[in-house]
Amino acid sequence: MNDIILLKQGEIVLKGLNRKNFEQRLVSNAVRRLRPFGKFRVYAVQSTVYVEPQEDGCDMDGAFDALKTVFGVISLTRAAACEKDRDAIAKKAVEYLAEDMRAAKSFKVESKRSDKSFPMTSIQLSQYVGGELAEAFPDTRVDVHEPELIVNVEVRDYAAYVHARPVPGAGGMPVGCNGRAVTLLSGGIDSPVSSYMIAKRGVHMIPVHFFSFPYTSEAAKEKVIELAQKLTAWCGRQTLEIVPFTHIQEEIRDRCPEEYFTIIMRRFMMRIAARIAEYNGCGALVTGENLGQGASQTMSAMAVTEAVSPLPVLRPLVGFDKEEIVRLARKIGTFETSILPYEDCCTVFTPRHPKLRPTAAEAEECEKALDVEGLVEEAFNGIERIRLEVGTD
Ligand code: ATP
Ligand code: MG
Repeated sequence: MNDIILLKQGEIVLKGLNRKNFEQRLVSNAVRRLRPFGKFRVYAVQSTVYVEPQEDGCDMDGAFDALKTVFGVISLTRAAACEKDRDAIAKKAVEYLAEDMRAAKSFKVESKRSDKSFPMTSIQLSQYVGGELAEAFPDTRVDVHEPELIVNVEVRDYAAYVHARPVPGAGGMPVGCNGRAVTLLSGGIDSPVSSYMIAKRGVHMIPVHFFSFPYTSEAAKEKVIELAQKLTAWCGRQTLEIVPFTHIQEEIRDRCPEEYFTIIMRRFMMRIAARIAEYNGCGALVTGENLGQGASQTMSAMAVTEAVSPLPVLRPLVGFDKEEIVRLARKIGTFETSILPYEDCCTVFTPRHPKLRPTAAEAEECEKALDVEGLVEEAFNGIERIRLEVGTD
């Protein structure tokens, strides 16, 4: 008899009519994430998703860890299985929860029966298992009002299950249930975190990287691929789009005033990202911009940059301190890669004195020296696409 994993759904429970759709997303995202760990049956009943191994030798520890990064799950628990018999259930609870019972000062048992042919009511079963536990752990008292530990017993079709102490899940909403967005992924600390944050709200991400070979190296590109690969743990499978950006940057360098280099470069990023978004049916662009972080992230610079985007530009980190961003980067596992010392296209041809209060009118004036449409088209046609599946590392 195999242990199972229970996932508690988060906000999606509140979604009324859309609930089935949300639930199906969550189930299919979980199924995809579980693939490397064996064969599982995954299905939702009320606000719980049940994950049941279908063969011996499933990697339950690996599965449990992988499910911690699936958005839409508020908490998860591993439940031990036993025969549907009151003594087997009590014995299992005593064995399986020994450590938790010893650590807690008080407990209570809550039972659920979906198998209505079970010969005891939920209350009788809770009382019986509670009595056995109290006897086995005399230092832990029963407290039905404010117990430190809640012991759950579930009697289901083929077996009974015992579990306690759920661990926090990834939260958020299942990826894919809130549409798609293009995320501008540099090699830095911020943009992987901003991608994670929007994916957490149920959005499927298309990461886009602007690459200025040979000013930035193959190693810099590999670093971005590695970051995007790491993000698949949270965002699910995705296709990274690498946009050739060298010609655009050289044109800007040769034809525009130096103080506008960065702003104009960013306007090109927005235009190309919007083009990719349109092609893929996306509803927004996402950046790792953060108010006051450098000359290109002032309010006026952001206004001039986003003026060329027909789509909303989401900046989930806009009000964060660097420390908060770093904490999240560590949590999601991208920090160590982000701090590898490779250059980004933003550091190529950086102006000595960037314009602090740029205006859209001035930027447009500068851009008259460029074949904007042609350059966007050329970059779009040169995109390299890299499919990334969810890794097992
Ligand atoms: P990050 O840590 O994300 O690199 P940053 O503080 O270094 O952020 P900038 O380099 O100024 O900030 O870039 C701001 C945002 O612009 C990034 O968060 C990212 O969304 C986008 N961006 C910058 N460079 C690139 C690039 N080469 N490819 C794709 N997006 C980029
Ligand atoms: Mg950067």
